[in-house]
Amino acid sequence: MNNEAIENNSNDGFFGHPIGLRTLFLTEMWERMSYYGMRALLVLYMTGALTGFNPGLGWSSLEAQAIYGIYVGMVYFMVIPGGWLADNLLGHQKAVLYGAIIIALGHFTLALPMEQTFFLGLIFVVLGTGLLKGNISTIVGKLYREDDDRRESGYTIFYMAINIGSTLGFLVCSYLGEKIGWHWGFGAAGIGMTFGVIQFIKSKDLLGAAGAEPNPIDESRRSKMVTWTKVSLVVMFVVILSGLFGLFTVDARLFAESFYYFLCFVAGTYFLYLYFLAGLNSNEKKNLVLLALLFIGAAAFWSGFDQSASSLSIFARDYTDLSVRGYIIPIGWLQFANPIFVVIFAPIFAGAWMHLAKRNLNPSLPIKFALGLALMALSFIVMLYAVELALVSSPVGMRWLIITYLLQTWGELALSPVGLAAFSKYSPKKYVGQMFGLWFTASAIGGVLAGLLGGDALGAGLDSISPVFGFMVRYYLLIALGLIILSFVIKTAKNTEN
Ligand code: GLN
Repeated sequence: MNNEAIENNSNDGFFGHPIGLRTLFLTEMWERMSYYGMRALLVLYMTGALTGFNPGLGWSSLEAQAIYGIYVGMVYFMVIPGGWLADNLLGHQKAVLYGAIIIALGHFTLALPMEQTFFLGLIFVVLGTGLLKGNISTIVGKLYREDDDRRESGYTIFYMAINIGSTLGFLVCSYLGEKIGWHWGFGAAGIGMTFGVIQFIKSKDLLGAAGAEPNPIDESRRSKMVTWTKVSLVVMFVVILSGLFGLFTVDARLFAESFYYFLCFVAGTYFLYLYFLAGLNSNEKKNLVLLALLFIGAAAFWSGFDQSASSLSIFARDYTDLSVRGYIIPIGWLQFANPIFVVIFAPIFAGAWMHLAKRNLNPSLPIKFALGLALMALSFIVMLYAVELALVSSPVGMRWLIITYLLQTWGELALSPVGLAAFSKYSPKKYVGQMFGLWFTASAIGGVLAGLLGGDALGAGLDSISPVFGFMVRYYLLIALGLIILSFVIKTAKNTEN
């Protein structure tokens, strides 16, 4: 940017950054608190026994994990239409505000103690997150002028907000949801998001003009877009309502599989379109190939990462000893490991890349992604060992899951912040916004795969885990190897700043 960076954004009121970053920091923190807090309960609630002090829905793990996969996939896929609406019609600030309100509504709907409104609640959270998640990240970038070198560290501070938020979410929602009642946990997520809404409304002015207005387009084009948006919304609501009223039924597993192919098709077609038809020069094409490779690496990575709230949560519940000095901790508390390790290790990773860069030894992007995937593979090797132990004598200690999350967090730090920066740097200039959408589509594919693989893993309890985790380890390592080989082929990726 950024002509939009008006005077009050050039200041340094928030840790040396524009004061508007505080508004975005707190909004994202509350949004991620609600997202991860609820996500930690979702599969446990769906698979929970129908009777007992905290009755769940009693669904099979296969079906529950497929629904979880569809949910996570949809959340990240909706970032694309959410970005389009903000760019063309709403402006990013309004999109974030409306998104936050719809998310809160979704969690409060889930808080109603009835099964009938369960899917409606999930749909609200999906639509709201589609409006909020990508657009809030876009506003972060808009706070800085084009030549402001604080932007990268601005994103690092923003990544901290994500992790402080998820720590809070696991702490509060898992405790209330598991120990008091599922719907209390969902309600707490709604209250968290409401805090986010209130603080966003109160401090929105600090953002100045960043993301306040949609892109300028002529009136006739805009009115066509409004018409199309209205038509799509009506169609969407008719489909959703017919589904909710039982006019058609959906096989979750089949839907998840089809959704996975659909996402791969959309992403593949888009890459091909850009490569062949978007009039890119040869340098831009080379960079696009690099991004396509990173895309595959990222999708594979998230397919393991997102199992923390599906198969790994079920493993924690059924085969792990959760007692600490006589107190049985909530299952979701084990997931603290990820955000806490992020906060501890993020500066170390950032420092290490900078240190290596000074000596001209900074690894290329594919190598960093390969490292991320290798760490993901290693984390599941640890789980394979834990499964062996559990087969001999269950439950096993918590340390296995904690080590697994530690390795996954290292992997996340090698891949996620670097990937975001790579997509902003190497995308063809005209298409940066849509390429960000594509980056989140990798998360969407990963999310659906996490549901499908996790479902397969627990198909026959402990016995079916090893073949699936073993398969995952092999394919993570294979993709990592592919990336390493190709990194020697693609020279453009050399010497990245991250
Ligand atoms: N942990 C990050 C977040 O919540 C990234 C998640 C993802 O892209 N799958 O924003």
